[in-house]
Amino acid sequence: MLDKPESCCVDVPVKGMFGRWTKCTRKGIVEGSNGQLYCKQHSPEAKERRDKIADEKHKKKTAEFRLKLAGPEMLDALEFVQDQMSRFGAMVIENPEVKTKIREIRVLIAKAKGDE
Ligand SMILES: [Zn+2]
Repeated sequence: MLDKPESCCVDVPVKGMFGRWTKCTRKGIVEGSNGQLYCKQHSPEAKERRDKIADEKHKKKTAEFRLKLAGPEMLDALEFVQDQMSRFGAMVIENPEVKTKIREIRVLIAKAKGDE
């Protein structure tokens, strides 16, 4: 099948036929820096927008996954710090910001353990 000269230059997967590709049948309306025509959906700008959204989504998922992995160890560390603070440190801490953080740690530990 010959391409119409004004059609989009991008290859797209054939629906229902895994591994098969064909030319996009939409009209090329945007000229890329390579001189080829792209439809609105496959234009380099649209692809860049989609890639950016996918990249942000991936980064967010990765950050969530890492946090989930680190969670149990962070909980252990926070419990240790809280225990040490309650034994030795709480009475000598004057800094109100530190006192607030210690209270927050107590709340976070309770939240993580499900006994809020
Ligand atoms: Zn296209």
